[in-house]
Amino acid sequence: MNYVFAAAPIVSIPAMSSHPFPVRRIYCVGQNYAAHAREMGGDAEREAPFFFMKPAQAILPNNSVLPYPPATGDLQYEVELVVALSLGGSNIALEKANDYIFGYAVGLDMTRRDMQRAAREQGRPWDLSKGFDYSAPCSAITPEFYTGVIARGKIELKVNGEVRQSGDVGDMIWKIPETISYLSRQVELFPGDLIFTGTPAGVGAVVRGDVIEATVAGLEPLIITIG
Ligand code: MN
Repeated sequence: MNYVFAAAPIVSIPAMSSHPFPVRRIYCVGQNYAAHAREMGGDAEREAPFFFMKPAQAILPNNSVLPYPPATGDLQYEVELVVALSLGGSNIALEKANDYIFGYAVGLDMTRRDMQRAAREQGRPWDLSKGFDYSAPCSAITPEFYTGVIARGKIELKVNGEVRQSGDVGDMIWKIPETISYLSRQVELFPGDLIFTGTPAGVGAVVRGDVIEATVAGLEPLIITIG
């Protein structure tokens, strides 16, 4: 196919195999750990999960510099377990949901918090506070073949070696199969879709020169420098 200009390349992530994982869409779960929901002024109770998106082009590879984004003075980190899907479908049954998982990665849901707060107050969309350029740093994907189904495990984020976020992915309000099943009732999921599954408490700001080290037990650590 000849387009009017060269089509953008497919975004991909290394996947510990000879072939990279092609990214289709990025879905993110909001306020999925009770303590973080509270720190954001939300309700820690088990409300229905809510989702937002980032463009696939927001993926930033591991060990990269994230250019400090424009239009914010409050760039914040959120460490998240990322679920990568290799099967698609709608109305996925809870008991089958784990079968759709290709593997797992460590991600950062980078957020222009000042812009997000203004949007919240005015009842406006979050898109540009969450889905800006390079807003989705992500480690290599470890196939589920190697990790088994991940239902618990330490999740942590350090800035310049100092622990800022520490939790356990077992503390998610909506567990991964529930999230997949629930999301698949709102949109058709496809192979290549990523789900950022929410962040534990302790979110905060970074400045130029900071080094973020984000980890989930058993997965490749994600190291990002703010440029
Ligand atoms: Mn998040």
